[in-house]
Amino acid sequence: MTAALRQVLPARGGEPTLASRYTNRTVLAIGAHPDDLEIGIGGTLARLRRHGARVVMVVASIPKDYEVRRAEAKRGAEILDCELKILLDDGPRRTEDLKACELVGMLDDLIRDLEPAAMLTHSSADFHNDHLLIYNACLPTRTRR
Ligand SMILES: [Zn+2]
Repeated sequence: MTAALRQVLPARGGEPTLASRYTNRTVLAIGAHPDDLEIGIGGTLARLRRHGARVVMVVASIPKDYEVRRAEAKRGAEILDCELKILLDDGPRRTEDLKACELVGMLDDLIRDLEPAAMLTHSSADFHNDHLLIYNACLPTRTRR
């Protein structure tokens, strides 16, 4: 059994689980829109929290219905017991309204402030352009090891 596989299996005999590796550490989860994180990795985020990680959910933008979607994102984060940050929090905005370097700079600021041990985001295999913009903006950033 590889070390990587051992870490994702349930704890048995004191072996660490993936979630327990982040106890007392910060995990940053970045989604393009409200609901992306809850639907995509909500269970993982809740499990990380249950194991004592500080989990910060970042929603990059809210393109429309700003107040309603913002309230839904806030409630989703509360249910998962996570913190919430809206990256573009000045009203309805689209991720593609930013230049790539601006988006990377905003993510770099978050990483400098929060010093996350891990960062979770969309997949490179995603088909939604905003999701790919976020994925690509996360690539040049660095988390603390
Ligand atoms: Zn989305």
